[in-house]
Amino acid sequence: MSQSLNPREYVIVQSEAEATELLTKRGEKARIIAGGTGIYEVAHRGLFAEVEVLIDITRLNLNYVNVKERSLRIGSCATMTSIFEAVQLAGYPELGALLDALQAIQPLQVKNVATVGGAICTAIPFFDLPVSLIALGAEVLIAPDSRTVKLVDFIKGHFAVDLQAGEFVKEVNVPLLERSEAVGSAFQKFALTGDDWAIINCGSRVKIKEDGLISEARVCFGGGVGEKPKRADKIERALVGSSAADENSLKTLLDDNVEQDLDPISDLRASSKYRTHLAKVLARRSILRSAQLANGGNA
Ligand SMILES: Cc1cc2nc3c(=O)[nH]c(=O)nc-3n(C[C@H](O)[C@H](O)[C@H](O)COP(=O)(O)OP(=O)(O)OC[C@H]3O[C@@H](n4cnc5c(N)ncnc54)[C@H](O)[C@@H]3O)c2cc1C
Repeated sequence: MSQSLNPREYVIVQSEAEATELLTKRGEKARIIAGGTGIYEVAHRGLFAEVEVLIDITRLNLNYVNVKERSLRIGSCATMTSIFEAVQLAGYPELGALLDALQAIQPLQVKNVATVGGAICTAIPFFDLPVSLIALGAEVLIAPDSRTVKLVDFIKGHFAVDLQAGEFVKEVNVPLLERSEAVGSAFQKFALTGDDWAIINCGSRVKIKEDGLISEARVCFGGGVGEKPKRADKIERALVGSSAADENSLKTLLDDNVEQDLDPISDLRASSKYRTHLAKVLARRSILRSAQLANGGNA
């Protein structure tokens, strides 16, 4: 264990009640562990110096991925690999963003153990899965009282999520539209190397009417756009009523609106100006691909 994480106990809980009891009793001295791939990112920053007990929730029955009653329900301990396989099998164009994001995350060894619960609770704004899930309108189901929060609100900032004492994430729920509706989603990422975090990433979902115009749009950016993933309200509003297939007008629309939605950071990896340019390019590609999937193109 790293110097900034020195737990004295590692408890593999057998029930949700046991996890809740331990979290409630031990407060800041207890933390959940699932895949164990992200916890060091938090610990390195000294945020887990007080943690004495790690609560392993992987024996709870939370490793499931179900498409049920117009929603995709993902148990918090479902691994990235199991989510990819189940979503691919379900074959919903609406869930293209999830498949794209899971393909963009490397390496495979991490995806075989990393969980959706860990991906959203680490709350690092450069991550890919949360951005794709926000673009899909995901909600978070929290134990023990089945409290539900929109994912975009659940992530409050760097390493900060909306969890109260005794609570942990039980499920991530993605509402699905009618299968008869023309809806598609996609995700794009730009990184410096194959296993790097995103300089900018973008997830989108569009619904298209019979006349080919967009009737509903969701766009979310991550990677250097602030403390948490950012919904692009202005772009979303501007997209409604525009043609999904007209790349030139989409480019103009994004040129006119990206700066109103985003003010990316400058750091050693990229300037704000470069990130803004990337945001326009990735949003264009993501929206075009979403529209292509909505119109029955290949996933
Ligand atoms: C080599 C490497 C490469 C990576 N590349 C990418 C990449 O390309 N793109 C990308 O997006 N990510 C990447 N990641 C990050 C990866 O997505 C996260 O490490 C992973 O999602 C964390 O999941 P986990 O199950 O391992 O979480 P854990 O390490 O078990 O936990 C992480 C945090 O979440 C909390 N937590 C976990 N589950 C719950 C729960 N159910 N309820 C409440 N709190 C919970 C823990 O207390 C801890 O604070 C990479 C990681 C590594 C190690």
